[in-house]
Amino acid sequence: MQRYFVEPHQISGHLVTITGDDVHHIVKVMRSRTGQEIVVSDGQSRTARARLSQLDAGRNLVQAEVVEWLDEQRELPIDVTIAQGLPKGDKWEWILQKGTELGASAFFPFSSERAVAKLDEKKEPKKRERWQKIVKEAAEQSHRTRLPVVLPARSFQQTIEEIPRYTACAIAYEQSSGFGLHAVLDSLGPGDSLLVLIGPEGGFSAEEAAQATAAGAVAVSLGPRILRTETASQYVLAAVSYHFEQTNGERRESNG
Ligand code: SAH
Repeated sequence: MQRYFVEPHQISGHLVTITGDDVHHIVKVMRSRTGQEIVVSDGQSRTARARLSQLDAGRNLVQAEVVEWLDEQRELPIDVTIAQGLPKGDKWEWILQKGTELGASAFFPFSSERAVAKLDEKKEPKKRERWQKIVKEAAEQSHRTRLPVVLPARSFQQTIEEIPRYTACAIAYEQSSGFGLHAVLDSLGPGDSLLVLIGPEGGFSAEEAAQATAAGAVAVSLGPRILRTETASQYVLAAVSYHFEQTNGERRESNG
């Protein structure tokens, strides 16, 4: 069944009101008819099966009636924010799409010493709109119930200052010894948040790595091979899923 994210205020009682690009998708792309069902999610807590009751492409409006509230468990038990040294455009978009499929809660790019790509501050808001759209489509496709957010770009310094806002922070640093990621994940439980710092194509400088660890990040290895920046974030997200959803499945169930 086709899924759409709406703003919380678009679900009022049992009435769902859809506007914007999704109207075009429902009416023109899917060629839906009244009576057909879709799944809508407010991106936070409510997901429902809803029956289309009004299709009005002219007024850019679709309405649907909630048939059943769904109680779906599709989200990682911890909130993972992927902060990535900005890679070139198409790679970043790939990271957003795949990272959403793998369950990330938020993303932001940061500038750093060895970054190849540079972000034009003036163009950022427009780009972020496009990035958020990529995330929305990936979240609908992968049946997420929470809509991940693309946060504004930051400098490396600003990124470091964010560390205390999270339960834990891991910096992926290929020169770190041991496999600290397991220990970091072991220290976290449902509802906790993890900030993951991944370097750009050129990696982190030793000084940046030192600054991050001084600010509370744990340097972690992602194995003996050097991964490309876009692979590194996917490794971490897959490891989080494995840790909490596969090996510790019992723990998750007992915590609801
Ligand atoms: N330093 C290298 C590689 C950069 S890889 C160079 O100079 O080209 C890009 C980023 O991916 C790194 O900054 C790091 O955050 C992450 N990464 C890749 N492989 C890793 C590994 N084996 N362990 C930890 N982090 C890794």
